[in-house]
Amino acid sequence: MSFQSQYLRSVYQTVCQRNAGESEFLQAVEEVLESFDPVVEKRPDLVEAGIIERLVEPERLIQFRVSWVDDKGKVRVNRGWRIQYNSAIGPYKGGIRLHPSVNVSVLKFLGFEQTFKNSLTGLPMGGAKGGADFDPKGKSEGEIMRFCQSFTTELSKHIGADTDVPAGDIGVGAREIGYMFGQYKRLNNEFTGVLTGKSLQSGGSLARKEATGYGLCYFVQEMLSYIKKDSFEGKTVVISGSGNVAIYANEKATQLGAKVVAMSDSNGYIYDEKGIDLAVIKQIKEVERGRIKEYAKRVPGSVYTEGCGGIWSVKCDIALPCATQNELNGEQAQQLVNNGVAVVAEGANMPSTPDAVEIFQANNILFSPGKASNAGGVSVSGLEMCQNSMRYSWSFEDVDAKLKNIMINIFHNAYRAAEEYGHKGNLVMGANIAGFLKVAEAMKWQGVAY
Ligand code: GLU
Repeated sequence: MSFQSQYLRSVYQTVCQRNAGESEFLQAVEEVLESFDPVVEKRPDLVEAGIIERLVEPERLIQFRVSWVDDKGKVRVNRGWRIQYNSAIGPYKGGIRLHPSVNVSVLKFLGFEQTFKNSLTGLPMGGAKGGADFDPKGKSEGEIMRFCQSFTTELSKHIGADTDVPAGDIGVGAREIGYMFGQYKRLNNEFTGVLTGKSLQSGGSLARKEATGYGLCYFVQEMLSYIKKDSFEGKTVVISGSGNVAIYANEKATQLGAKVVAMSDSNGYIYDEKGIDLAVIKQIKEVERGRIKEYAKRVPGSVYTEGCGGIWSVKCDIALPCATQNELNGEQAQQLVNNGVAVVAEGANMPSTPDAVEIFQANNILFSPGKASNAGGVSVSGLEMCQNSMRYSWSFEDVDAKLKNIMINIFHNAYRAAEEYGHKGNLVMGANIAGFLKVAEAMKWQGVAY
C-alpha cells in the first residue's frame, strides 16, 4: 500500500476485509486508490459525500446457474454472473467473458475498471461486467449456442436497452452475441439495442470489431505525437494475444507504418522478422479458430516458441499487451526495458502486474493503462447504442472518425488530469482521476438514499 492519506488507507483496509482472497479485485482497487492522494486533498467535498467508499462496492452482483445439454445428451452445469457495478452516469455497460478462469474476483475487478473506462469515453455509460466459468475451447457450435441461450434465459431478467447493455469480451464475439440476442428477442418479443457487438444485419455497428485494436493505436499515435513528436512509422511492435483486440491492433499499427513482429496465444508465440502476415493470422484465428503455432507451419522463416510469456523477450520499440490480466510481470517488464522499449500501451484489461507498471514508470517508458487505451471497444459499443436508438447506421468512416476523436480526447483528458493533480506525464494517475471525477460528481449530485 502506498497511500499517504489515512482516509484512503482505512477505505482500503475495509475493502480488504470485505473482499478477502479476491486478489484481482483488490489489485485493481489498490491501483486506483493509489492515485487518489491528490484528490482527497483537493476535493474534501467528495470525501465528505462518501464517494470513494461507495465506489469500491458494486451496486449489484447477480449469480445464477447455467445448465445446458452437451452433444452427448449429458446435462452440464456452469455458474454465470452479472456485476452491475455503477450506474451513476448511464445504464450499466460492459462485456461478457466466457473462460474457465472467470470468478467473482475477476468480474468485480473488470466491472470496477469498466466504470472508469466508460467514464473516460465521454459517453453516458455506467460500468458492468458478466460472464461464466464456461470454457468455449473444444465445444461444438451447437454446444456454444445452447450454452449462450441458457445463459441468456437467466440474464435477460436483469438487462435492457436502458438498464444494462452487455457486449463481448474474452470468448464472446459476434457469434455468441448473436445467440444471446436471438434468445433475448424470443423471450421479450422486442428488437432493441440490449446487446452490442451484434452482427451488422442484426443492428450492429460498422467498425465495432476493429474498435478496440484501432482505438489502441489511435491512442498511442496521439501519445507519441504529443509527448515525443514521434509516430508509428518505422517502429517494431510486439503484440501479445491473437484475439479481436490483437488482430486489429496489428492491422492499424501496420497501416500506420509499423512492423509487427510477434503475436501469441495461451500456448506460445510466433516471431516473424519480416513482419507478421495478418491474412494468415485471420485465417487461423477468425476462420479456423485454430492455434497460433499453425502460423510457423505456413509462413517460411517464422518461428514458434512454446510458452506465451516468452514474447516479452522479443526486442521492440512498442509493446501492446492485448491478451489478459497479469500477463506481463516485473521480470518481463525489465526485459522489455533492457531491450529498449519506448512505449507500452495496454490493449487488455490490467495486463501488467503492479511491479511491471512500476518498472515502466521508473524508466520513463510511455505507459498507458488499459482503462484509457483500450476504451475504443466500449466507445463503439456506445455508438452502437446510439445508432440503435436512432434506428439508423453510420458508415465505417463515420464511426472510425468518431472513435479516433474519442481516443484523442481520452489521452488529453488523462494527460491534463495528471498535470492538474501534480503528476505530469503519469497516465495511470491521470486516467484514474479523470475517470473518477465524472462518476463522482454524478454520484454526489444524485445524493444517497436514506
Ligand atoms: N469487453 C470490452 C471492454 O473490456 C467491451 C465492452 C463493451 O463493449 O461493452 O471494454
